[in-house]
Amino acid sequence: MRQKKANAEIQSSKLLPRPPVVVVLGHVDHGKTTLLDKIRKTNVAAKEAGEITQLIGAYEIIYTPPQTNTNKNADKQLDTSVNQHNNQRESAPAGSKRITFIDTPGHEAFNKMREHGARVADLAILVVAADEGLKPQTKESIEILNKTQTPFIVAINKIDKPTANINKVINDLTEQGVLLEKYGGQIPWQTVSAKTGEGINELLELILLVAEMENLTYSPDSQANGIIIESKLDPKRGISASVILKNGILRQGELIATESAFGKIKILENFLGQKVDSLSPSAPALILGFETMPKVGEEFFAGKINLAEIQIIKEKGREKPEVKPTILETNQSKNYINLILKADTIGSLEALKNVLSSISLKDNQLNFLEEEVGDITDNDIKLAQATNAIIIGFRTKTQKSAEKLAKIYSVKIISSEIIYELGKILEETLALTLPKAPEILGKLEVLAVFNQKTKKQIIGGKVLSGALKKNVQTKIMRNEKEIGFGKIINLQLQKKDATEVESGNECGLLFESDTKINVGDILIYEA
Ligand code: GDP
Repeated sequence: MRQKKANAEIQSSKLLPRPPVVVVLGHVDHGKTTLLDKIRKTNVAAKEAGEITQLIGAYEIIYTPPQTNTNKNADKQLDTSVNQHNNQRESAPAGSKRITFIDTPGHEAFNKMREHGARVADLAILVVAADEGLKPQTKESIEILNKTQTPFIVAINKIDKPTANINKVINDLTEQGVLLEKYGGQIPWQTVSAKTGEGINELLELILLVAEMENLTYSPDSQANGIIIESKLDPKRGISASVILKNGILRQGELIATESAFGKIKILENFLGQKVDSLSPSAPALILGFETMPKVGEEFFAGKINLAEIQIIKEKGREKPEVKPTILETNQSKNYINLILKADTIGSLEALKNVLSSISLKDNQLNFLEEEVGDITDNDIKLAQATNAIIIGFRTKTQKSAEKLAKIYSVKIISSEIIYELGKILEETLALTLPKAPEILGKLEVLAVFNQKTKKQIIGGKVLSGALKKNVQTKIMRNEKEIGFGKIINLQLQKKDATEVESGNECGLLFESDTKINVGDILIYEA
């Protein structure tokens, strides 16, 4: 009966309810992974579903609230979600509800992905360890949640620990403007132990309650769309993209496109790695068939797609980044350091770029020449050699032949499994490679110009720092820009010839230069 009614609703209504997409945020080590693992292990019956062969960055559970559940065994309240297909949805017990969880990496370096995560998510769980309280990444997460206006639930974790101090967490949160229910605010919260499982069912119920208030819907007749949450190059299967479907029905065989990539859904898999013909929101899915690599966080559209739009995407893909003058050209005020980035996934590439972009480089600027998923190959070495670039590999291998080639061409490869190590090694490498700023030995401000008939100009000025010497070369700076150079032929201090004039003194100079000196120019004598 119930089933028939549900089907009738599907046909008659344009908008259908869809499960919430949930992201877990919080400080490192506060238990995000443990919580996600616990929910997955207790809620996806791997034996029935077949072992999960690959993690695609998201999973879906079916939760049956205790009042409609006839099974007394708590673990079995949580059913399997083998069937992702809309038509197979009846396999879930009556009263049960689906939840999609995004398995975002919890590391600080994945900030960007977490932002994407918060955007793709309908709601978030902010995990705070009861024994540690609020930490920098907790505060950062609160900022992201506020910025993206994502509704969230606070999970106070590790309550099994003797050092757990729930009141302190509540007070800390209040200080950060996160006012919990019963404590002057409206933010739902739950104490949990990701280790023992205590409070997790209550947390899932809270998620469903908050989701109900959000009134999440989708239209089965709309063009399918959602968000790319991961993409990688599988050596056997080609480009694979993990997505979360937010609207429409995703069907095998249809065209798919994002702003930067396109393809045809050759194979559609649910999060358990099972081939399916179609999926409905908010299912996670794995798509094989993209011709180019989609970016993490991009929105995708599938089904009826304008072919002219795809053409534009194809052409964009062909545009190659500009090769900037390299670090060897030291005469310019800004030097570019060409980098070739290689990583195991698009998400890693983005994280790597984030970390590298935060390196302080003074007058130099990083130029990301190429960013690619996959091994470091001969081609990368050749490109690096031609452009004087450094290759950075994150969680990726260097092919044997490429290693040899790198030695022959003296191409620098920095590779590591640890993202911050890469930043540090690059910083150290650049400190050794980059031309050091020369030491300033003397600085003078020009106060008067007396004679400029020839290249030998008579000027007066004040030594601002260090000392100026007879017969030395100086740079000429105007409005903080270098405009030329010249030589001090003679120096006079109080109208008497001098070999050196120190800081604080005014002096006269016979200065030889092709550049006409102006009052206000600065002469700089460097080592
Ligand atoms: P993440 O960095 O936030 O993903 O944190 P993890 O899930 O990796 O957890 C960090 C450490 O805390 C691990 O050693 C976990 O076993 C432990 N942990 C996580 N949740 C709990 C909990 O509820 N109780 C206790 N006692 N330990 C926990």
